[in-house]
Amino acid sequence: MSKVFISCDMEGCSGIVNNQFCDPKGKFYKEAQAYMTGDLNAAIKGLQDAGVDQILINDSHWNMTNIRIQDLPSGVELISGDLKLDSMVEGLDASFDAVAFIGYHPMWGNERGVIAHTYSGITMRVTVNDKPVGETGIMGLVAGYYDIPVIFVAGDSMLKEEVCQLNPDIHFTVTKEGRTRLAAKLYHPDRVHHDITETIGKAWVNRKAIKPLVVEKPVRITVKFKETQIADMCMRMPQVERVDNLTVAYEHHDYLTVYRAFLALQSIGSASRG
Ligand SMILES: [Zn+2]
Repeated sequence: MSKVFISCDMEGCSGIVNNQFCDPKGKFYKEAQAYMTGDLNAAIKGLQDAGVDQILINDSHWNMTNIRIQDLPSGVELISGDLKLDSMVEGLDASFDAVAFIGYHPMWGNERGVIAHTYSGITMRVTVNDKPVGETGIMGLVAGYYDIPVIFVAGDSMLKEEVCQLNPDIHFTVTKEGRTRLAAKLYHPDRVHHDITETIGKAWVNRKAIKPLVVEKPVRITVKFKETQIADMCMRMPQVERVDNLTVAYEHHDYLTVYRAFLALQSIGSASRG
């Protein structure tokens, strides 16, 4: 029985350029839901054509209720809703053979990364063992913790470079080319969907040649926030160190614990905004 886990975000999907699309209250949100579902269904088709038996999708954007189950093929399952322990990788465990990320986007500070950010609007920079990471790295290392490879990512042209730094063997579909953080040259969805279906199928066939993302132990994560009081309040959490005015760090031998500590810092941080 073969199983694939898909984490589906929205910012990196075809057709989407700013938060008028990504914010559920935005003018183009309904269109964005259709773009997101289109890219996701292209990935599901590629995996099902390649013979994958089970696909679990986790809705990973904003309030995490963007994808409508009735818009997906009947053979898949969907985790929907945002109050979940592992957030963007909720439902992932050691039983899966491969992981794919759809609609992912570059880390905060990437000047041509479309809607580039790192997990939240309060975070400027995240490092794991001194290497800057975006959401692809942060979530991909959870897959690595379970010894599962990330085989495929779809997102903008700048994310392709970020993914290449993580592991150049990960298959990639470019959905659009960033011009600025809030403008892009769009590729037609038909072209993107065709590419996703074909490339994720190849990724599945090649999965054994793609190494899981791993990190040396102990694992140290640093999080630089946009406001100092956020770092101040994060010091309430046991084992958190202050690195500088805006930055805190957390260290543990096990990445899953580090990842959950990161999520806890994000929860504290979001409650501490000025
Ligand atoms: Zn998102």
